[in-house]
Amino acid sequence: MGRLFALLLLPILLFGGTVIPFKWNNGESFLTFLERKKLPLSVYYNLDKEDQKLTEDIPYSANCQMVVNSKKIIQQILIPVNDELQLQIYLTPKKRYELQVVPIVSEEHTETLFIPIKTIPYDDILKATGSRNLAAEFVKMFKGKVDFRRGIRPDDTIVMVYTQKYRLGKPFSMPEVHGAMVELNGKRHSMYLHTDGRYYDEKGAQFEKFIFKIPIRNPRITSRFTKRRWHPVLHRYRAHVGVDFGARPGTPILATGDGRVTFAGYSRGYGNTLKIKHSNGFISLYAHQKSFRNGIRSGTKVKQGEVIGYVGSTGLSSGPHLHFGMYIGGTPIDPLTVMKKKTEGFTGKERKAFLAIRDKMDRIFTSALKTKPVRKPYFDFHNTYYVDIDTFKPKPF
Ligand SMILES: [Zn+2]
Repeated sequence: MGRLFALLLLPILLFGGTVIPFKWNNGESFLTFLERKKLPLSVYYNLDKEDQKLTEDIPYSANCQMVVNSKKIIQQILIPVNDELQLQIYLTPKKRYELQVVPIVSEEHTETLFIPIKTIPYDDILKATGSRNLAAEFVKMFKGKVDFRRGIRPDDTIVMVYTQKYRLGKPFSMPEVHGAMVELNGKRHSMYLHTDGRYYDEKGAQFEKFIFKIPIRNPRITSRFTKRRWHPVLHRYRAHVGVDFGARPGTPILATGDGRVTFAGYSRGYGNTLKIKHSNGFISLYAHQKSFRNGIRSGTKVKQGEVIGYVGSTGLSSGPHLHFGMYIGGTPIDPLTVMKKKTEGFTGKERKAFLAIRDKMDRIFTSALKTKPVRKPYFDFHNTYYVDIDTFKPKPF
């Protein structure tokens, strides 16, 4: 088994080898990639079904790394499948290539940030943090609640509480915002992240507009979304970047929202698969279909609720079901967090839980208005580190 490998950002010499960063070719299949790199296809065929399916979830333009030795022989390739798991192809001492799924090591920091508004919130947050994701998340949270185009005064401020992942000292992946507050003309507006993954205001009302609908009638969920799960029996890491709905073969599949079909075809893992591009950068995916509805092809415009195909069991599927995925900019998200939901406000236990979150967050906001915390720079400890493949822990180079 291979032992120590390197992960880094720039080509660098290592054990007489070189690390080469590269981006995943958009739309390239894993098998084509192996052929192009002259790697044995057994790397793929030796995997079990679940890991084979994972290779179809490599995001567009994923940041990958390859280690080659002085004879240009590939020692290792790392390909992220989401922000928690990566595929590691490596050369064993017996000169065989193998693949395993390993975690991506990152640090997480929860930060509270105080930002005086000088121009508009998006620009001020971007300037303070360098994070477009964080700025966009803030705007999304307050959409429909606060109109920032009107009357911003010099004393107006923002407080955000969020968790950000860092890898090699740099932020990566989407931040999770726990709460945000904006003080406009002396009036405070706040939004809070509830345990259901959605944002609510002080009164527990929802302002986010969820434009998407569950793609099947009488949905029965058989498998939920997870980016990384340790399988205790198989002793390996798993991911399921979608929601499975069990249904009889032939059950109609409905478009989750208005959009345009960007892919209608067959893939080994997902079988008959449709992808629909929606506004705001969302892409939905419908896999294992028996067949597509007549007339549906790449380029077809569809309306929300329109039948696009029928449930089947094509591809690497263990029985008839719809695998439904949602992506933003190539990153898988839990589809259930962006589906339409009735919001009648909280009652009982859920109300108690929400109020506890709200009150805790309000105390953080109040204290931040006094202490005015700014973003801490994180120490970029090394451009290079090893990943021990037994412990997955980075070690300084
Ligand atoms: Zn699935």
